[in-house]
Amino acid sequence: MQHPILLIDLDNTLYDYERAALTTRGEVLTELGQALGAEPATLHAAWEAARRSIATAASGHELRRARFALLLEPYAARGDAELWAARFTCAFSRAVRWSPGAQAAFERLAAARCVMVVTEGYDDIAAATLAALGIPTITRLATHGTGTTKRDGSAFTAALASLGAAPKDALVIGDNYALDVLGSAERGIASLWLTLGREPPPDPPRTLRGTARDLAAAAARLVP
Ligand SMILES: [Mg+2]
Repeated sequence: MQHPILLIDLDNTLYDYERAALTTRGEVLTELGQALGAEPATLHAAWEAARRSIATAASGHELRRARFALLLEPYAARGDAELWAARFTCAFSRAVRWSPGAQAAFERLAAARCVMVVTEGYDDIAAATLAALGIPTITRLATHGTGTTKRDGSAFTAALASLGAAPKDALVIGDNYALDVLGSAERGIASLWLTLGREPPPDPPRTLRGTARDLAAAAARLVP
């Protein structure tokens, strides 16, 4: 059965989140170390501690600002947290790259079906990431601040409601088994899991319609 609506995941489906995050952290903390005269290893440890102690905020920018404020506390530059948060956001946008084959696959899917990007995270970060990839931001839904989450499927039903569509119309495509496959199953929405080379877990929900290595393989199957 063909699904007219495709709800496509962002992190690790369209681009390699871990690679972009590591590149960004390395670049920004190196610059910060030079500015403060501090050892990079000290700043990396402090950044990890700040990440652990500040997990959520009103926006992605506020989250980064609060973490930099904590990291800068021992130094005479605490007032610069806002600026370093902005520099981090710019560096992250520079570090975002399409996964191999994902851009052509996304364009192929978007040309044939109605595509919406649904991501578990902050709207401002999602907007910047999609802008870095060159995807029109009208097609996104991010969960933080909307009271929805992929985990119970409410993010997917909210995305469908915004399109005037029903669960039966949609196929969720994503790499996160717990969020994209099990979350969508909670609302009876079909899914296609991107394995990224991993073995599928046993006892999949009946809504799982198949697996594909990555988005390129998924697009080749859905739009032959
Ligand atoms: Mg993902």
